[in-house]
Amino acid sequence: MTPSAQEASALFERLVGSAPERVWSAPGRANLIGEHTDYNEGYVLPFAIEHRTYAAVGRRRDGIIRVASTFDPNPVEVAIVELPALFGGDPGEAVQSGDVPEWAAYPLGVAWAALAHVDATHAQIPGVDIALASDVPIGAGLSSSAAIEGATVGALDDLWHLGLTPLDMSQIGRTAENLAVGAPTGIMDQVASIMGETDSATFLDCRTLETQPVDLGFAREGLRVLVIDTKVSHSHSTGGYRDRREACERGAREMGVKALRDLTTGDLDRAKRILDDVTFRRVAHVVTENQRVLDTVDTLRAEGPRAIGGLLVASHVSMRDDFEISVPELDTAVTAALEAGAIGARMTGGGFGGAAIALVEADRVAETKRAVAQAFADAGFAEPHQFTVAPSHGVLRDA
Ligand code: ADP
Ligand code: MG
Repeated sequence: MTPSAQEASALFERLVGSAPERVWSAPGRANLIGEHTDYNEGYVLPFAIEHRTYAAVGRRRDGIIRVASTFDPNPVEVAIVELPALFGGDPGEAVQSGDVPEWAAYPLGVAWAALAHVDATHAQIPGVDIALASDVPIGAGLSSSAAIEGATVGALDDLWHLGLTPLDMSQIGRTAENLAVGAPTGIMDQVASIMGETDSATFLDCRTLETQPVDLGFAREGLRVLVIDTKVSHSHSTGGYRDRREACERGAREMGVKALRDLTTGDLDRAKRILDDVTFRRVAHVVTENQRVLDTVDTLRAEGPRAIGGLLVASHVSMRDDFEISVPELDTAVTAALEAGAIGARMTGGGFGGAAIALVEADRVAETKRAVAQAFADAGFAEPHQFTVAPSHGVLRDA
């Protein structure tokens, strides 16, 4: 058992007075390539990481759901029959409830969305205690939110015998995050967290929701993914994110397609003639990024991971110059990592801050970290938080 799994079990024992019936866990994720393509119905290629959130769980005799986290000394409890009222009735018209602290809306929202998904009569569902502990860094762009959702939905599927498929679980996590928490995210994070496989990425078609595991071979080939968290907050990004979404919708409308997914690089000449310069560059990023995801999958299969560096760098350049969502700290991280010999590097996540990733030879990780830290110091930036992540397995039962 990992320290976080033990912490979850210990918290459960303090709360309930006996050992948990089960421990379930789900990982955070990093996105290898495919940025701002999800809401354009395109392609993404994320992978689960070894950092995980653990849910130690056990049934209760009453109809109460009680959640506790190492984050907060105070557990939160709600009657299961009250969940629909708490989150506003049917999924689809819900709004976030101010009645529970925000962190508790993740696991309680998952319980609510899971029961709605299977159309359960809430009165017949046994109560449950859930104790959470995590080693996924929070707010670093590694989706601690999908990890808490994944661990909770895996545990509830087991205790409540819901018979959920991996895609059901992903959709439930997304519904909880969108409607119970109120964060307008796509389904990529949940799919990556739930369906991850060791040393693989998950290719996701965001229109059809078809998924395919793609062998990465990083561990086999002695490669590491270095995460460079700039610690630049992306909390001010809401306006920028909305603006980019609007530009994409405008581009699709003016090009006469349902979504930018329906354009290929062959359409870009026409796009340049029709669209204003800014809209064209936003569209160009999404269209070329979709192609880069497909090319990355093909390249991994045909040539292996050392051949994808150019695609990662091209993705960064496209986000920096065309989509304009990078910041100097992210550019510095990418440039310094490449100068130190990284195979490829790019900013990852929504942009305006957050983290970059670099694909690095295992024996060059320490040197790359030093070079990045030095470049940040030279530029007068705060020291970044750097650590490696390995492509890892999705949701599972630990005990
Ligand atoms: P990210 O997913 O990038 O880490 P989010 O803002 O989407 O950032 O999600 C982070 C939020 O998820 C936290 O602020 C907290 O509310 C909730 N959360 C994540 N992990 C835990 C945990 N182990 N216990 C309680 N809440 C958690
Ligand atoms: Mg999140």
